[in-house]
Amino acid sequence: MRWDHLRLDAGDAPGAPPPDAPLIERRAVARTIDTPEFRGMTFYEVHAKTIVNKVPEASRVPFRWTVNPYRGCGHACTYCFARKTHEYLDLDSGADFDSRIVVKVNAAERLRAELAAPRWRGEHIAMGTNVDCYQRAEGRYRLMPAILAALRDAANPFSILTKGTLILRDLPLLLEAAERTRVSAAVSAGSVDRDLARLVEPGAPPPRARLETVAALNDAGIGCGVLMGPVIPYLSDSTAQLDAAVREIAAAGATSVSAITLHLRPGAREWFLGWLREHHPGLVAPYARLYRGGAYAPKEYQDAVSARVRALAAEHGIAPRAAAPAASPSPPPPPRQLSLL
Ligand code: SF4
Repeated sequence: MRWDHLRLDAGDAPGAPPPDAPLIERRAVARTIDTPEFRGMTFYEVHAKTIVNKVPEASRVPFRWTVNPYRGCGHACTYCFARKTHEYLDLDSGADFDSRIVVKVNAAERLRAELAAPRWRGEHIAMGTNVDCYQRAEGRYRLMPAILAALRDAANPFSILTKGTLILRDLPLLLEAAERTRVSAAVSAGSVDRDLARLVEPGAPPPRARLETVAALNDAGIGCGVLMGPVIPYLSDSTAQLDAAVREIAAAGATSVSAITLHLRPGAREWFLGWLREHHPGLVAPYARLYRGGAYAPKEYQDAVSARVRALAAEHGIAPRAAAPAASPSPPPPPRQLSLL
C-alpha cells in the first residue's frame, strides 16, 4: 500500500508541517503528543480506502486476509521484518519506522463496511501480522475496540499476534466475540532475557509481562500460544536460554509454542546489523558467516532450533505447533559453527 491508496486530510492539526514538507507530511494530519510515552513520535492520521488486505497468493503464511490499522511500530524491534514497508511511504526503515506511525483512523468504520459487503465470505482475518496492533499508539488511538466490535457483530473469525500487554484492555470484547466465532491469540516472545529484550525490543513490554498476558488470556478462556519470534543466533539460542523460555511459557499456560529463527531481509538487515556492531561487535563476523547466504540462517540451523523447542515443549508439557513458515526456499550452506549446538 502506498499513500495514494489512502484518503489523506490536510495537515491543519497542532504540529502540522509546512506546505513544502515532504509528501507524507503534506498529505496527512500530523500530530505530536507531548507526553513522556510519546515524546519524539509523530502520528500521521489517514483515512484508508480499504482495510481488509488480501495476502498475495505466493505468500507461504497460513492466512489469506489481514487487517492492519497502523504502519510503523513504536515497539521498535531492531530485527522487525516490516521495516522495509515504511520505505513504500517515503519514510526510512530505521528510526522513522519506530517513531513516525501511520494511523488509519477510520479502520473500524471501513472494516464494518467491508465485512457487510456481499462479496465478503466471512474468512479468517489475522491481525498483528505486519505491525503490532497493540503497539503503544493504540493506547492513545483506541482503534482496536471498535475493530473487535465489528468482528464480533459480524461473527467473523480472527486471530491476533502481539507483544502488547494492552490486549488485556480489550478482554471483554474478545470474550464477547469468542461467544460468536473462533478467536485466538498468540504472544511473541523470543526469550525471557529482560536485558536482551530491553536492547533489541526497546519499546515493547518486557518478556515476563508478555507471559503474564498469555496467562491472563488463557485464564479468561481466550486460547493463547507463544511464538518465540525470533530466536536470535548467539544471543538467545543456547540450550539454557531456550529451556528457560519454554519453561516460563509453559508456566504461563500457553496453548502452544513454536520458534522462528531471526531472518534479516533488506530493511531489517541494515538496522539489525548496525545495532549488532554497536552492542556486540564480536558477533559481526559470526553473523556474516551465518547469513552469508542471504536473509535466512541455514535450514540446518533453523531446524535445530525448532527441534530443540519442540523437545522442550514436550518436556514441559506444552503442545507443539508447526513452525512458522519462514524458511528460505533455497537455504544457504550451513555455517562452520552453530551456537545452538
Ligand atoms: S512488535 Fe512486531 S511489528 Fe512491532 S517492531 Fe516489534 S516485530 Fe515489528
